[in-house]
Amino acid sequence: MHIKELVLDDFKSFGRKTRIPFYEDFTTISGPNGSGKSNIIDSILFALGLARTSGIRAEKLTDLIYNPDDTDEAPSGTREASVEVILDNSSGVVSRSQIVNAAGTDNIGDTDEITVKRRIKQTEDNYYSYYYLNDRSVNLSDIQDLLAQVGVAPEGYNVVMQGDVTEIINMSAGDRRRIIDEIAGVAEFDARKEDAAEE
Ligand code: ATP
Ligand code: MG
Repeated sequence: MHIKELVLDDFKSFGRKTRIPFYEDFTTISGPNGSGKSNIIDSILFALGLARTSGIRAEKLTDLIYNPDDTDEAPSGTREASVEVILDNSSGVVSRSQIVNAAGTDNIGDTDEITVKRRIKQTEDNYYSYYYLNDRSVNLSDIQDLLAQVGVAPEGYNVVMQGDVTEIINMSAGDRRRIIDEIAGVAEFDARKEDAAEE
């Protein structure tokens, strides 16, 4: 399964609806400093609820909404931003029933694609965050549970941030081994083995 396309709307520096295609094997994004490359990564973390400690570069969630003046003072009135991550599920890695389960309804359309969308809305005195799975309103935990089944997790290494590389290099061999086990999917079985031994 891979990301097929991102649709950013008023997210950070993307002040109008922008579709970003991704290829199956490898996609690189290049551009001048400050052109929005890292903002694209932030958009994936935001939409999939993957923000770890080192995650999204924003103090508050509402900083993620496009601000034409890019000042510290956010514009008043209602503003909103959204990011949609379109995953290619044509090989059926995630079964229809898993998606139905997560969405809480079988009215989810075609499951060759899985779309995860997050929208943030700021009003005069509050802000709201909404998640959607194939256009159905869901909770973050529904999305996280679904993604965990295909090995995408907030504490995982699906997204390797800049600082992570140095951290991995400086780690002890044992810690590094744990990361490899986790990526290989072995860690889960180790944990279950430990649980079983305790029982
Ligand atoms: P570098 O090559 O230096 O890493 P980059 O391509 O990764 O650059 P980003 O960090 O993605 O660049 O983009 C930074 C730009 O995004 C800055 O110009 C910043 O002003 C702009 N930006 C961040 N948040 C917002 C926002 N809410 N509204 C408008 N612009 C924003
Ligand atoms: Mg950058």
